[in-house]
Amino acid sequence: TESAVTEAELAAGRRAYELDRQHVFHSWSAQKQIKPMTVIRAEGSHVWDGEGRKLLDFSSQLVNTNIGHQHPKVVAAIQEQAGKLCTIAPQYVNDARSEAARLVSELTPGNLDTIFFTNGGADAVEHAVRMARLHTGRYKVLSAYRSYHGGTALAVNVTGDPRRIPNDYGTAGTVHFHAPFLYRSQFHATTEQEECSRALDHLEQIIQLEGPSAFAAVVLESIPGTAGIMVPPPGYLAGVRELTRRYGIMFIADEVMAGFGRSGKWFAVEHGGDVVPDLLTFAKGINSGYVPLGGVAISDEIAATFADKAYPGGLTYSGHPLACAAAVATIGAMREEGMVENAARLGDTVFGPGLAELAAKHPSVGEVRGTGAFWAVELVKNRETREPMAPYGASSPEMNTLISACKDRGLLPFANFNRLHVVPPLNVTDEEARTGLDILDDVLGIADTFVSE
Ligand code: PMP
Repeated sequence: TESAVTEAELAAGRRAYELDRQHVFHSWSAQKQIKPMTVIRAEGSHVWDGEGRKLLDFSSQLVNTNIGHQHPKVVAAIQEQAGKLCTIAPQYVNDARSEAARLVSELTPGNLDTIFFTNGGADAVEHAVRMARLHTGRYKVLSAYRSYHGGTALAVNVTGDPRRIPNDYGTAGTVHFHAPFLYRSQFHATTEQEECSRALDHLEQIIQLEGPSAFAAVVLESIPGTAGIMVPPPGYLAGVRELTRRYGIMFIADEVMAGFGRSGKWFAVEHGGDVVPDLLTFAKGINSGYVPLGGVAISDEIAATFADKAYPGGLTYSGHPLACAAAVATIGAMREEGMVENAARLGDTVFGPGLAELAAKHPSVGEVRGTGAFWAVELVKNRETREPMAPYGASSPEMNTLISACKDRGLLPFANFNRLHVVPPLNVTDEEARTGLDILDDVLGIADTFVSE
């Protein structure tokens, strides 16, 4: 598959593009203003586009193909499951689902030993909140301003995203707070310690003002991903755990993006010490997105609520056998091939130092931050004022130029507003990782020309 894309494949790609533009409605887009890239083929850390160009995938698509494309063990497992049993309703026991649930409960921290499977991340968040409400008998939900939790009714309302907030009235009872983000501190903090303690005070104040016994849940990404990979300062997650416990609020850790090895640990909440949330949502990396799957890992206490009282919810495809077989094979491959360890090692030895070097060299880089295979490059027009390279919530001609420049040089980035994220598959090789950083170095040279002092 390393061979060049054939003429027939290119022709099929052109036909697909035409049909796409006529009939496909794209997420988060002005339909007439986009020119989506065609992908003809993908293998490992690479994709081939509609012009036959080979690109190094530093996006892992939507930060989900954690084991890279077309992993042979997972492809084989899906094929084997398809030959055996493609689908079965959720009320029947199925071996792929049982084994996937066992593995998730084994990998998640503490007593998160009961697994409800969903189709993806958004519905995992919906159901986690629903469980928290039914368990506590309370209604209000807290979530961070800079966050992403999904595109369905409640998930999009707890999402703190400038593309979302101005377009929705919001759901009654969803309340937002500022999570720590030292580079753009809401608390005038200058150290991580200050940011941490002031962010916790702020959260407690909101709880007090909105009614300490009103909240069912705090929904929080263990490391906010789409909003900018803001690794929380030491002590923050433990502080949230302590606060939520004190006020009887369920702590929902959203690990849809950060989970399954992305951060260099199986779950990002583990970076916070012994923090065990009440509910943990996952999706994406559980099976690298080969078949849609997500879920909620449920604490024993919350599971007990539904021991003799029915949970009033469900999904036709909950624990879909193809998706669960892919999950079992993905987790197996990640363990056998040491992918989580590889992500941690790459973060410490290649991405951390390599990106720090780029930040020192390029005035367009305001900050780099991250862990494992989960890094953000925050681009600014001015380092003093920290004016972002694109307004919060929008693209900009400068950012569009940089994204094209990456692609022209063979790198597929994940871009969001003024940031380029370095989020390759966890099993990217050292050589691929360095190649990607070299391309980024080159592109940041262009970004520097947009800097005004
Ligand atoms: N939570 C987080 C943290 C996410 O990053 C995402 C997706 N980017 C979601 C929830 C929603 O997942 P999905 O798109 O699978 O519904």
